[in-house]
This record gives sequence, C-alpha cells and structure tokens, in this order.
Amino acid sequence: MPDAPKAPITQDVLTLPRKAVEGGKVNLVGLTRDALRDALIAAGTPEKQARMRAGQVWQWVYQKGVRSFDDMTNLAKPYRALLAEHFVIEVPEVVRRELSTDGTRKYLLRIAGGHEVEAVYIPEEGRGTLCVSSQVGCTLTCSFCHTGTQRLVRNLTAGEIVGQIMVARDDLGEWPLPGRHPKDEQRLLSNIVLMGMGEPLYNFENVRDAMKIAMDGEGISLSRRRITLSTSGVVPEIARTAAEIGCLLAVSFHATTDEVRDQLVPINKRWNIETLLGALREYPKATNSERITFEYVMLKGVNDSDEDAHRLIKLIEGIPAKINLIPFNEWPGAPYERSSNNRIRAFADIIYKAGYASPIRTPRGEDIMAACGQLKSETERARKSRRQIEADAGLS
Ligand code: SAH
Ligand code: SF4
Repeated sequence: MPDAPKAPITQDVLTLPRKAVEGGKVNLVGLTRDALRDALIAAGTPEKQARMRAGQVWQWVYQKGVRSFDDMTNLAKPYRALLAEHFVIEVPEVVRRELSTDGTRKYLLRIAGGHEVEAVYIPEEGRGTLCVSSQVGCTLTCSFCHTGTQRLVRNLTAGEIVGQIMVARDDLGEWPLPGRHPKDEQRLLSNIVLMGMGEPLYNFENVRDAMKIAMDGEGISLSRRRITLSTSGVVPEIARTAAEIGCLLAVSFHATTDEVRDQLVPINKRWNIETLLGALREYPKATNSERITFEYVMLKGVNDSDEDAHRLIKLIEGIPAKINLIPFNEWPGAPYERSSNNRIRAFADIIYKAGYASPIRTPRGEDIMAACGQLKSETERARKSRRQIEADAGLS
C-alpha cells in the first residue's frame, strides 16, 4: 500500500527543461523534427539546408547509433564542429544491468537530477519487447502496483524516453552495419510497450514526441502497430492518443464493478468504468485499428470469480478486444495474492468461449523483480528497506 500521501491526481508535474546539459548545450535526442530543424537554424545552419541536415543527423543518431558528431562522415568537418559546439547526444546512463534466467534484461538507468528509472527487455520467439518507463514513480496509487507506492518525482523528457530504446539497442548490439537499413534486419528490439514506471498519459507530450521518433522512417523506424501504450484510464487523453500518436492501446481494466475498480485503480473515482468504456469504443475507429488490449491482473478472491468473467464480457461487448490476464506479481509488502493457476485458467476459458483471445501473460524476469508492476526506483527501494530494518529493530 502507499506509504505516504500523494499529490492529488494531476498532470501538472515537472518535466526537466531540455536545455539542461553542459554549458547550455542542447541534447538533440528527443527533439522533434521541427524542434531540431529550428535548433539547427538557431545554431547557424542556413535555413534552406536545415530540413535536410535534420534528416541526416536523425539517421546517424537513431539508425546508426552514433554518439559523436565526429562520426557523422557525410557532414563537412566544419559543420560537425558547429554541431559539437551547440549540441550533445545524450542518453540515460546504465547504472546496472540484470539478466534473468529467462533472458529478460532489466536496466537501471540514471537520468538528470540523479533520478533512476527502469526499462526491461523481454526476448520472445520471433520478437523482442522493450518495456519503457514514462515517469519516475507515478502520481497514481493502484493498490496492487509496486510503482504506485513510490511518490512521483518527475516526468521523463522525450529524450529520456527514446533514450531507453537507444541504450537497450546499445546493449543488444543491434545498430545496423553501414549501408544497411534497420528494416533489413531481424530486429532484436522489435516492439515497445509503455508499461514501465508511470502513467504515460499524464506525460502526454513527451511520450508522444518520443513515440513519433520511434515510429519515424528516419528515426527508430518501428511500425505504430509494434508500439502499445498502456493507461490506467486517463479518459480525456485517450482520444488525443488516437489522434496524435495512433499506436495500439492497452488499458489497465482489472475489475468489473466500480466498487472494486475504485479500490484497485483509484483513477476510477474520477473516470468510472462506463466513462472509460465510452472512450475505448471510439479508439479503434479513430485509429482505424485493431483491438484494444484489456489488462486484467488476477488477484485471489478480489476480482477473479466466474461472475467477474461474465460481467467483463458484457461490459466490453462491441469493442474489438483481447483480454490479457496477468497473474499478480508479488512484491515486498504487497496486500494481495496471485490467483491459483486453476482459477486463472477457468477465468480465461469463459472469456475465450465468448469469442475473445484471453492469453495468460507469463511472468518474465521475476527473479530480478522485472515483471509487471514490480518496478520501482532502486534508491526508493533502498530507503524503504532501511526503514523496514529500523522498524524491525524497534527503532521507529
Ligand atoms: N501506468 C500504466 C502503465 C504501467 S503498468 C498502467 O497502469 O496501465 C503496466 C501494467 O502492469 C498495468 O496493466 C498494471 O496494471 C500492471 N501491473 C501493475 N502492478 C502489477 C503487479 N503487481 N502484478 C501484475 N501486473 C501489475
Ligand atoms: Fe501508476 Fe500504472 Fe502502477 Fe497504477 S498500475 S500506480 S497507473 S504505474
């Protein structure tokens, strides 16, 4: 459960200004195409050339993984020097990398201000998914989520979000060889899920800018169908996600009555199930897409009955949907237990028979606390365990 009262649900949280690094130099990672073009002009690039230069720089940074202007060999030397004078290419620092027995990799990343976030790479048959964080902590307090016990520290910048993809590609060693387009490769990092720490729709602009770079043909170059944004249900931002990002959508549904959902996903008190479903009905039409993924965490005796399964089917009627059942992942002090395998299978069966795909998500990277809902900053974790130790010793 949350260990401290939190700020009210709000979008008004601090994002670090972009112009933060060394001597006023601008980090060009995370700048939109237009912002980069403007910044290049401000640094002295002739206006007529700026669009082309921005494209060239993007290709070096996002397609070839280059981190030094010196390596941008199709640019004249004096121009490289000009870039180095005004810009840096900065990605989060990998503080630690943990490797699970199942091949999952968890990265502890340090960002400006000394804050820490986690990103998780999950290799699967024929694809590899990076689970990306959007905030340090979370303003919301979902009672089953480890991140929800951590106070929000700040929003990540677009550069810090796209930077997570870049450091994972560094670690996987998958920047393409010269002359080869990334699409030619069998990509190790082929999918992105915004399911790490934070509520992406409370950091909308930065998430959008980062995902635009991820989807751009001169950027990371992933299809919008390979990107899934997960929200707890920030209703006003759902239509905006369709209009301005257009990726796949997942929603943390988790309950079939407002009474239970108020407890599990407190944002439900602001936008209840009916309001949420209204927004979800419009999403596939607006994006001309695909199914919405309903995430449903299986909590013993709380939301896992046959009645819940039947109610769920009724609620989502008419929405193209897939129901992703997530066995609850435990964390120290968690107030819930995971439903039994038999219960989960019975629940899945009812949904499947109603005509919906109902995969049961295999927990990945549990041994390194990398599974869904287990992420939390290391500094915070350490602080908590110290407090715990003191409590155990009768010191507090
Ligand atoms: N804030 C966003 C995205 C991050 S959470 C959201 O809530 O959708 C990613 C997914 O993991 C969500 O569906 C979340 O509900 C789920 N989750 C959180 N804690 C969990 C836990 N302990 N066990 C299993 N799933 C969990
Ligand atoms: Fe935040 Fe998502 Fe965790 Fe809820 S489940 S506390 S919205 S990260």
